[in-house]
Amino acid sequence: MLVHRGRYRNILKRGGLNTERSGLEMRAMVFTEVGKALRETVVPMAKPGPGQVVVRVRACAVCRTDLHVVDGDLKQPKLPLIPGHEIVGEVVECGEGTEQHPPGTRVGIPWLGWTCGKCGFCQSGRENLCDQARFTGYTLDGGYAEYALADERYCFRIPDTYSDAEAAPLLCAGLIGYRSLMKTGEARRLGIYGFGAAAHVIIQVARHQQREVYAFTRAGDDAAQGFARRLGAVWAGGSDQAPPEPLDAAIIFAPVGALVTRALRDVVKGGVVVCAGIHMSEVPAFSYELLWGERTICSVANLTRRDGEEFLALAPKIPVRTTVQEFPLALANEALRRLREGELQGAAVLVP
Ligand SMILES: [Zn+2]
Ligand SMILES: [Zn+2]
Repeated sequence: MLVHRGRYRNILKRGGLNTERSGLEMRAMVFTEVGKALRETVVPMAKPGPGQVVVRVRACAVCRTDLHVVDGDLKQPKLPLIPGHEIVGEVVECGEGTEQHPPGTRVGIPWLGWTCGKCGFCQSGRENLCDQARFTGYTLDGGYAEYALADERYCFRIPDTYSDAEAAPLLCAGLIGYRSLMKTGEARRLGIYGFGAAAHVIIQVARHQQREVYAFTRAGDDAAQGFARRLGAVWAGGSDQAPPEPLDAAIIFAPVGALVTRALRDVVKGGVVVCAGIHMSEVPAFSYELLWGERTICSVANLTRRDGEEFLALAPKIPVRTTVQEFPLALANEALRRLREGELQGAAVLVP
């Protein structure tokens, strides 16, 4: 593999002609079947097509969505699949017609990998809802690998003040968290249910906006509650506890449907409950009384490029700091296990 990598660099020095790199391979963690661990595999490297770039992966954060893919909660992954959609790396090769990110540029590759650009959603600033959309690490190969391929139009420049590993969680935990926070409007008292990677980023934005954050964790998870308080939560407790004050809005990051009714009870009239995850267990039936008083429930689906541009411009100004735990690429299964068991503080990041 090192031989291949060396060869790749030499080719790049010579100008990176596509025709010279046939037979090149890279190391990746590959998902083939629900219930099976990812397998470290040497796979052929993809060539960049028109508009695409090849990125040498320097860091790829592990998202709960990856867990939903490998656990079979999300039903339509490409197979075999390289998961991972919070990728930071360096452009090493550019396909025909690319112009935004020349070789050497540091970019981030997010979940939204491609949209049609023509449908009603795409044309009304809601490309996150495009029916034809393709998603990195789900319907497109992602970043649990040494290299990743991306459409350059969906890549973001990464602010210089972040290291590769620190920046990686901004690309989904940060972006989806930001989109969720925007859905809460002017809410001052904000409940966050599930205090993982997204919550630890978005609490910093919320505090910057002078909001009060109330953090809910698994019952008895003192470590997570302490982590939330250190990041400025005015209150942290178990999801079996009621907040000391009624909330103006709630964001649910934990994939637990019962939290929807729980949060509806915690918010005041006119309050919004934002479901930020891509998958949730079933939401229990509830009395209309809980929704009455113009309370709203909504979900957040994917991201738009505009979300990314806005959030990545804002993050270094606050500045948002991420807490990351690095794992070598080969330990992707262990990182996923720790996420599943709630053993991480902040975000796990794979470093090839
Ligand atoms: Zn579309
Ligand atoms: Zn994600």
